[in-house]
Amino acid sequence: MNVQLQHIVRNMPKAELHMHIEGSLEPELIFALAQRNGVQLPYPSVEALREAYAFQDLQSFLDIYYAGASVLLKEQDFYDMTAAYLDRAKADHVRHTEIFFDPQTHTARGVPMGDVIHGIHRACADSEVSATLILCFLRHLSEEDALATLEAALPYRDRFIGVGLDSSEVGHPPEKFARVFARARELGLHLVAHAGEEGPPAYIASALDVLHVERIDHGVRVLEDAALTRRVAAEKIALTVCPLSNVKLCVFDDMGGHNLLQLMDAGLVVTINSDDPAYFGGYVNANYEAVFASLPLGLQHAYDLAKNSFTASFLPQADKQKFIDELDAYFAAFNVV
Ligand SMILES: [Zn+2]
Repeated sequence: MNVQLQHIVRNMPKAELHMHIEGSLEPELIFALAQRNGVQLPYPSVEALREAYAFQDLQSFLDIYYAGASVLLKEQDFYDMTAAYLDRAKADHVRHTEIFFDPQTHTARGVPMGDVIHGIHRACADSEVSATLILCFLRHLSEEDALATLEAALPYRDRFIGVGLDSSEVGHPPEKFARVFARARELGLHLVAHAGEEGPPAYIASALDVLHVERIDHGVRVLEDAALTRRVAAEKIALTVCPLSNVKLCVFDDMGGHNLLQLMDAGLVVTINSDDPAYFGGYVNANYEAVFASLPLGLQHAYDLAKNSFTASFLPQADKQKFIDELDAYFAAFNVV
């Protein structure tokens, strides 16, 4: 990609809509927290942990992800993790982020729900970046566990804006969580779900029809079903695509083979996100730079991707417009919009 386009993409204002806060834990912070909390890690050094990041698929990644999360015990640990991510996001010109967190990963280890939510929320409140929280259910666990988790989080209802569904997709279709999503909907929470990453397009359809989600996380396999693609485009259901994650988890062999441009050409509302940035090789700007370096994308694509990130957010309309106005002003110098 040419130097000017690289500069524009890096510096343009953007939102991030698909980032798991536990996936922002860098090996250095994992070791620092392990030392602070007296946790013994199954890796002798920061370097050994980094080397273990050569996963083959979603499951081998998740095994390391849960080992890393085991150092998070106190409210301050969640604060420090979140503050570190928000600093990185700010450096990438992220104006707004909707952060996923996995309470079951922590409550199952005896960490109180309040410590998880307060620590993450307090860091968001202290940041210059606009940040809201989406509570995610681990889909490899039961729906009963998800229902109990939602109830346990209700005393902190004002601290999160929505619920999501993550972890191992294949074999755990969205409809497994119909009741807990219906309950979240009654509570006025926003709804999202991972679907169509490793799982089939049918999971995207059931996330829409059974769970009534407003965005699809990943969703790259939608193109395997032409009718579904037309529907997702017509309904303006945004896809939160995570390019480096897709390549690292072998959803695509390499970035040149990523279907991002086909998704955009199909009229879909596509956004770029980092998923688990500490594990997948980069924060949001690294994801933008990787696709712009490997695919025939130009200035208009850069603008569209950034604008989509704001329009697909759950911000109030006035806040969306404020950021889009800033984006328009930024691009005004480059003859696009
Ligand atoms: Zn994800």
